[in-house]
Amino acid sequence: MKKLNSVIEPPHYFSWHENIVNSKHTGESKTALQEISVNVGLRYTVLKNNVSNKTIQSITINEEMQENSQYLLDCYKNKSKKTKAIFEKIKSVQSSERTLSFCPYCGVTLPNTHDHYLPAEIFPEFSVHPLNLVPCCSNCNSSKGMRWLEGGRRLFLHFYSDEVSSNQYLHVQLHQRPDALGIGAKFYISENVPQDLSADEWELVRSHYTKLLLIDRYNKEVNSEISSIFDVCRSHLASGGPDVASFLNNYSANEAGIYGVNYWRVVLMRELANSAEFIDKVEESAH
Ligand SMILES: [Zn+2]
Repeated sequence: MKKLNSVIEPPHYFSWHENIVNSKHTGESKTALQEISVNVGLRYTVLKNNVSNKTIQSITINEEMQENSQYLLDCYKNKSKKTKAIFEKIKSVQSSERTLSFCPYCGVTLPNTHDHYLPAEIFPEFSVHPLNLVPCCSNCNSSKGMRWLEGGRRLFLHFYSDEVSSNQYLHVQLHQRPDALGIGAKFYISENVPQDLSADEWELVRSHYTKLLLIDRYNKEVNSEISSIFDVCRSHLASGGPDVASFLNNYSANEAGIYGVNYWRVVLMRELANSAEFIDKVEESAH
């Protein structure tokens, strides 16, 4: 799990919205959007400032925007060329082509949707704000739904602004399992606050994992992932590669550079690299 690069200005964030409105055919929707244009622009600045001041939770609902909800939401739902240009821009500013191979929220599957961090039903004016659109898998998107705040505290990480820690807090414990490979595993999150996070930041990270049931999802995927890592290691040895532990450590270090040290596959590879039992099994099967 790693922070994403955010789209930066210039051009002004509001110009992405304006481009969509300008490209619309003349009609009720375009007229309504033009009438509220100045106030939508002001709301864009509110979101930008709150993101940079790390006070997203203080953004309040705006009645005028809610009254124009259908027009504002159409800017996103119609998926016009100008809307898709925002998606492309978000992709293009990431540090690696591979960054968005996995959903930033979970790291399990392809992010084939965009989450409105501030739910579009509540904040329709931010439906195409580049800081409110987070590439996301449909599983996380539907699981998050309209939830974002509880008792004044945010429930999910905002990957453009929140700190996610560069210390390892996600761990996995290997255990014996009665099947062909014989190795199973269970993920868990450390009880201690990572050194580089405040208590509040840590609570947000924990909430993110809990609300999206991430540990359960990793545990469901882990057996097939161990088999897949096993096969890769066996091919590596069979083709004359050097020892499995260094291979896995190098591989996981590379993946950690892209997805962070708390990416569940990185955590698993590191643990397997340290398991004499796993290494023995790979070596036996390769010879
Ligand atoms: Zn996801």
